[in-house]
Amino acid sequence: MTKYTVPRGTRDILPAEVALWQFVEQKAREIFRLYNFREIRTPIFEHTELFLRGIGENTDIISKEMYNFQDRKGRSLTLRPEGTASVVRAYLESNLHKQEALSKLWYQGPMFRYERPQAGRYRQFHQMGCEVLGAVSAYQDTEVIALAQHFFETIGLRGLEVHINSVGCPICRPVIKERLKSFLGDNLNNLCEDCRKRFETNPLRILDCKNPECNEFFVMLPDISDVLCAECKEHYHDVQNYLNIMRIKYMVNPRLVRGLDYYTKTVFEVISSHLGAQNAVCGGGRYDNLIQELGGPSIPAVGFAFGLERAVLIMQNQKVTVPGRTPYLLLLPLGENAGNRAAIFANKLRRKNIPLEIDISGRGLSAKLKTANKLGVRYVYILGEDELVDKCGQLKDMRDGRQKKIRFDKFLAEMEKKYKKDNRS
Ligand code: ATP
Ligand code: MG
Repeated sequence: MTKYTVPRGTRDILPAEVALWQFVEQKAREIFRLYNFREIRTPIFEHTELFLRGIGENTDIISKEMYNFQDRKGRSLTLRPEGTASVVRAYLESNLHKQEALSKLWYQGPMFRYERPQAGRYRQFHQMGCEVLGAVSAYQDTEVIALAQHFFETIGLRGLEVHINSVGCPICRPVIKERLKSFLGDNLNNLCEDCRKRFETNPLRILDCKNPECNEFFVMLPDISDVLCAECKEHYHDVQNYLNIMRIKYMVNPRLVRGLDYYTKTVFEVISSHLGAQNAVCGGGRYDNLIQELGGPSIPAVGFAFGLERAVLIMQNQKVTVPGRTPYLLLLPLGENAGNRAAIFANKLRRKNIPLEIDISGRGLSAKLKTANKLGVRYVYILGEDELVDKCGQLKDMRDGRQKKIRFDKFLAEMEKKYKKDNRS
């Protein structure tokens, strides 16, 4: 082992895996554009107070997962555990809400939670997410669910399920909690220690417990959706109606709750059977009171975030491949004079936007050709000392292994022609 290692719960993303990340990020950007979302970038740390106020003091995130620190002036700052609170803060601080009735924003970046690291669960992880601020209609809930589903389809993920539920609003939530407590009260002994604590502080969160024994027991839970107030019921009905007419497959899951307190009405998750215990790749919902809670006017909103680590993990498990980023050409000079000539070619071709590598090492031809195979290049141009005299080199097509002589003065134009042709098809 080397002397220095990555901190527990973090990881390096090495070049082979980065290709998948770039593919996911690029597709997400394209989809956000299709649905008319604009990017917003906020700081990685914020005043601790923002998260205390936004996420809720009795959540796991606030009570045990925050990365808090003091700066040199004694201010309490926190590495962001999620993106929504920061987006709402920036939206209010920049007065976006006064300029437009509907703001559709997306973001991306690392998030930090002091959790127990496992496959698909890290202390630094990455999310991309979107928020619709001013989301008056139930259509907006459906649109973000549609976007999430469209996106996962685009990156080639199969076997995903969209689960939805309604967690009510401040009017009916107390009734939901009471109903839940009366069911759980008789069965407290079956719950883990954390859940016994949650029973007093945040009973709804018990349903989100990751402990398998608690989960087993929730199967017996009565359906609590009938205690929603009239407004929440109607909203839930409208969301499902839009989902139906837009032909979006979903499952009603009355046990679905989220780990953050700000959610109201609709909550949803996208679940994969390829993720093991950490089966949610995406989570979100409506948060009609958060903007006001953070000092703004009463503006309803809805959004979601997905985890890049988990999206990439499913792609790897499902063996989804993405176009690689191999150089098109390898220049292969043999000897010093040939090296000079190849350096000039490299310089010129790169300015013509042709990705290439040059093997300037003193190794022999067969060793260098091995590199060409490993890189997966389309062409190799061999410049031997003898060929310098004739002012020509050998162009080897790595697909069929055929080789032909190309004169130096024709080489640049020939490569440009080939590259254009290959990149058109
Ligand atoms: P989970 O139930 O798995 O803890 P969550 O409800 O805490 O997830 P959100 O806060 O809604 O998740 O974040 C949305 C997505 O971000 C999750 O669906 C997941 O893909 C990803 N995510 C959340 N926490 C982590 C983590 N610690 N490591 C990796 N990805 C994460
Ligand atoms: Mg969590």
